[in-house]
Amino acid sequence: MAESRAGNYDPRVRGDDLRQAQAVRELWLMKIEVPQYAIQDEVWVDPAKTALVVVDMQNDFVKRGGSLLVPDAEATVPAIGRLLKLARLNGIRVVYSQDTHRRGDPEWDIWPEHCREGSWGWEIVDEVAPGVEDTVLRKARFDVFYGTPFDHLLRLWGVSTLVICGTVANIGVLCTAASAALRRYSVVLPRDAISALEPFDFEASMRQTVFVFAGRLTTAAGVRCSESVSGLPESGM
Ligand code: ZN
Repeated sequence: MAESRAGNYDPRVRGDDLRQAQAVRELWLMKIEVPQYAIQDEVWVDPAKTALVVVDMQNDFVKRGGSLLVPDAEATVPAIGRLLKLARLNGIRVVYSQDTHRRGDPEWDIWPEHCREGSWGWEIVDEVAPGVEDTVLRKARFDVFYGTPFDHLLRLWGVSTLVICGTVANIGVLCTAASAALRRYSVVLPRDAISALEPFDFEASMRQTVFVFAGRLTTAAGVRCSESVSGLPESGM
């Protein structure tokens, strides 16, 4: 059985990295520049063809006392709240992912125990709690598409654009953004509604999404809804 790492967890250095580094008596540290990437002031989306995806905003990641705390995550709550308000005002579908693990999950060999089904840490934080109309997808892996009906639902709904926010930038958010782009969905990342453990991880995720997956970056306030034409009668009523 794998040794638990919950006791010596350092969010900046994963256990394996630290053990390996100690084995070679060297910690690798390098300063590099982030290549330029574009951040758009505004990104317009068609509400009828867009879904807002809130990734893993659960107590274990967001709240003090959480087992896998991302210190910057709580500061993204207002920006995510703004996106939720925009979505609900404009009839945009809202999908939450809920990281969900049970005893023996191999992810607990990589990270400390987190998001145990039914626990406080597993619950989505109160401030951005799902509404009755929203969809909550429990997932066991980083990617919201993996092992869930997400793609099926999006196709039923006629959604072609995903606005993805939440945490962690280079884990659940990036894996989902990549998975979406590979399935030919258009990806929008509001960067102030996304958090990571390290600036490097955050910037690498943004750059990767733009450079490799042709995603668009903006802010929560920069996401704008065009008037939806889908489903409206010919008269425009
Ligand atoms: Zn997990």
